[in-house]
Amino acid sequence: MTMEHRHLPNSYNDLLRENQILRQELLISRQASDITAELVAEQFANLDIVLNELSQSLQTEKTLRQEMSIARKAAEAANEAKSDFLANMSHEIRTPMNGIIGMTDLVLGTELHEDQKKYLQMVKNSAARLLKVINDILDFSKVEAGKLKLDPIDFDLHEALENIIHMLSLRAGQKNTHLCCEIDPALPRNVHGDSNRLTQVLINLTNNAIKFTDNGFVRLRAISIPQRNETDLYVKFSISDTGIGIPADKQQVIFEAFCQADSSTTRKHGGTGLGLAISSQLAALMGSKIYIDSKPGIGSTFWFTCRLQKSHGSLQEGNAAQVRQPGLSYPDLMDGMRGMKILVAEDEAINQTLMTALLTQFGFTVTTVENGRKAVEEAVREEYHLILMDLQMPDMDGFEATGKIKAIRPCPPPIIALTAYAMGRDREKCLQAGMDDYLSKPVSREQLYEMLIRHLSGREGAPGFPEPTSGTPDMF
Ligand code: ADP
Repeated sequence: MTMEHRHLPNSYNDLLRENQILRQELLISRQASDITAELVAEQFANLDIVLNELSQSLQTEKTLRQEMSIARKAAEAANEAKSDFLANMSHEIRTPMNGIIGMTDLVLGTELHEDQKKYLQMVKNSAARLLKVINDILDFSKVEAGKLKLDPIDFDLHEALENIIHMLSLRAGQKNTHLCCEIDPALPRNVHGDSNRLTQVLINLTNNAIKFTDNGFVRLRAISIPQRNETDLYVKFSISDTGIGIPADKQQVIFEAFCQADSSTTRKHGGTGLGLAISSQLAALMGSKIYIDSKPGIGSTFWFTCRLQKSHGSLQEGNAAQVRQPGLSYPDLMDGMRGMKILVAEDEAINQTLMTALLTQFGFTVTTVENGRKAVEEAVREEYHLILMDLQMPDMDGFEATGKIKAIRPCPPPIIALTAYAMGRDREKCLQAGMDDYLSKPVSREQLYEMLIRHLSGREGAPGFPEPTSGTPDMF
């Protein structure tokens, strides 16, 4: 029997060599696998470190997030507190101002010696200046706190511009400066936008133009910028003057709060340096920006473009529907209104006295109560033609009292909110609470008068209401 030995080594030596090679290969491969194992272990160790670091950084991130959320909540709370503080300050400041201005107005309406009249007029002017500064600071803080919101209504743009000119023409005349207004005939009258804020910007700019111009010209101009869009309306407003002008290096800083082009300005012309800061913030709120073009000694032009909407509906009550009969004065009005009953709900004694005096001068019969609960009782007991309702009162506030009166009486009289609380969208809040309108304190005689006309004209017992002729429009 023969055995087949394939690949048999030729000799023992060969066998040994082959065996040695195999051993070496085995050793190498063992070493290699040891190295690989070491490497793998090392990688695992690294991975551990990385995972550890990752989990630590996740932990840190979580802690950071928690800290950030705590900080954000603290900042929000601080902002809230600031807004509350402002709202309260606004209330606390406006209430006594209401008393000072109102009472001064009342005494000015009585028989006085020339000197007394002059001194009291000075009191009134100082109070008006103080109120302007307070309003500027409050407005500025409101915008800063993001609390100022636009309140668009339908209004007559032409009338709004003419009113500005009418209001400022006396001051321009005192400076021997000619004030004029140019309105593009292509601009529709009926528009929709925040008329109060737009007017505020235009008054600020026109006021400045008059302030810094002697014996010259100031022109307020409104031009329509053609649009394809049917509903939108772009208007370019510009206010030009031939006054002192502003050096190029000051033309941007004047838009910053509390900045004036020349430090002697305050001494000479007064002012806080807030007007332009507020105006440009308001313009930004309306999606616009104020530009300036000025040369010292030649004059300045401030301009901005504002987007409004064309309004097709009829104008809001009070903007167009007033019955005006120029030439008649308060005494005529008193005759017509004699006998109409007004209820005043107001907790501040000075404001009660002021309202009673003003309304009695107009010829109304006045009843006062000091809180909302009594207002409801009175409104149920007696038929009133109109109710003036303070908002913040002890026991029951004006909102609740209004709700109750409206719920109890099938035909309630108009209820007008009276408030010194000037933060937030008060007008809207009042209307939502069922009130018919809103008067912000300090209330001037003219404002009160116009409000009464608006809500009482056409009512039984109401006369055709004339326009007041005594005095100039007040400064509010
Ligand atoms: P102020 O209450 O001081 O007038 P503003 O913010 O309205 O505050 O204006 C800031 C400054 O800009 C003014 O003090 C004045 O130096 C300058 N200024 C504004 N408008 C005019 C203008 N039409 N002509 C010249 N200077 C102006």
